[in-house]
Amino acid sequence: MTDSSTSVTLTGTGIPLPSPGRAGAGTLVRHGKISLQFDAGRGTVIRLAEAGVPPYALTAQFVTHVHSDHLVDLADVAMTRWIQQQVQRTGPLTVVAAEGGAARFARRMFEVYDDDIASRVGHVQAEPPSIDLRVFEPKSVPSVVWRSDDGAVTVEAVAVHHEPVIGAVAYRVSTPTAVVVVSGDTRVCDEVKRLSEGADVLVHEACRATALRDLVRGTVLETIFSYHADTVPLGAMAESAGVRHLVLTHLIPQPNDAAQEEAFAQDVRSGGYTGKITVGRDLMTIVVERTRVAEVAP
Ligand SMILES: [Zn+2]
Ligand SMILES: [Zn+2]
Repeated sequence: MTDSSTSVTLTGTGIPLPSPGRAGAGTLVRHGKISLQFDAGRGTVIRLAEAGVPPYALTAQFVTHVHSDHLVDLADVAMTRWIQQQVQRTGPLTVVAAEGGAARFARRMFEVYDDDIASRVGHVQAEPPSIDLRVFEPKSVPSVVWRSDDGAVTVEAVAVHHEPVIGAVAYRVSTPTAVVVVSGDTRVCDEVKRLSEGADVLVHEACRATALRDLVRGTVLETIFSYHADTVPLGAMAESAGVRHLVLTHLIPQPNDAAQEEAFAQDVRSGGYTGKITVGRDLMTIVVERTRVAEVAP
């Protein structure tokens, strides 16, 4: 990795049901000294430490939507950073979230820790934890929601379709050397397609809905699958958007072996996608060197 490269690390490829080796939803995008974390599912702090970016070193934390598998560790990220301030004085965590449930969660997440916080402030912490919350209105056209101090890196957000969840968004990170899109949770939709036009890397949630249609018919899984991204039309969408590298995460159902992983890739191919496909595993890192995309095993 060089100073000019942009990298994408999967901090979690899991879903609400626990699966060995897969932490909850999370994607880390790095460029130079900038480290942007998207979502904070179960185990995020440990994965960030393993990726070499402990919470104090994050530039900003983004939230895609208010489902527990995407933000159950948000308080852990913020409070671990707070404790790390004893040594690493980088200040409160910047949290970027859509107005509504995600922002409400961020505002309230320290409340249940009030006794712990009072105890720590009484002994070792100079002040209670806080976050620098940046709230935006989710819209159906992309808008810039974060910009680095030097203006070189920007993050746009667009509202996606994860109903019944309201206010779910996808993000597009633009650095001088790469465009990376993180879908969050959504069914395949035109908003993410437009956001992903010409992207170097699209990190997209993936659900094998077409393949499992008969198996789940009439069950609660059929309802759950209806608001996630069916891998076959996902392939068609990524192809028409001209995405160079499609990285599948939030894998439903969670694959247990190489053959089950390959089935995700075949679904996407059958949808017409001709670019590079990676079926995600925790701590996989994709490095984009301008137009050259390399993959580093975990
Ligand atoms: Zn989810
Ligand atoms: Zn969700």
